[in-house]
Amino acid sequence: MIPQWLRKRLAGKGRGARGGTCPRCKCYVITGLDHDDCALPAVVDDTEINHMSELLARLRGVATFDFTQYGGTWELRYRYPVHIKAEREFPVLVAHVCGIRWPATAEPHLSLTRSAPPATTLESPPF
Ligand SMILES: [Zn+2]
Repeated sequence: MIPQWLRKRLAGKGRGARGGTCPRCKCYVITGLDHDDCALPAVVDDTEINHMSELLARLRGVATFDFTQYGGTWELRYRYPVHIKAEREFPVLVAHVCGIRWPATAEPHLSLTRSAPPATTLESPPF
């Protein structure tokens, strides 16, 4: 007889994500295991974030997860750098941090355009 945990896994329900509320701040969150093997529990916000929001979260040390569907259940899958660089296949969710809601669509605030350098002529050298 196979162990109960293996039965659940074989049924495709072993690591399925579930909705609930954070016991601390009462926000709606999604919980689940973050991998098939050696998994850790993950708690994420329910808002899909764009690339810039993910970058902001990762710079702050907050993990991000793919929200995948496998065999009729939804699962959370930790996003390693190789996943972040690649094209997105699934909605990306950010780990829940009480009191912080990551913007779904952050935009860069830096301007990468340069102003034109001052015109120089032979009559007015720049020094
Ligand atoms: Zn919370």
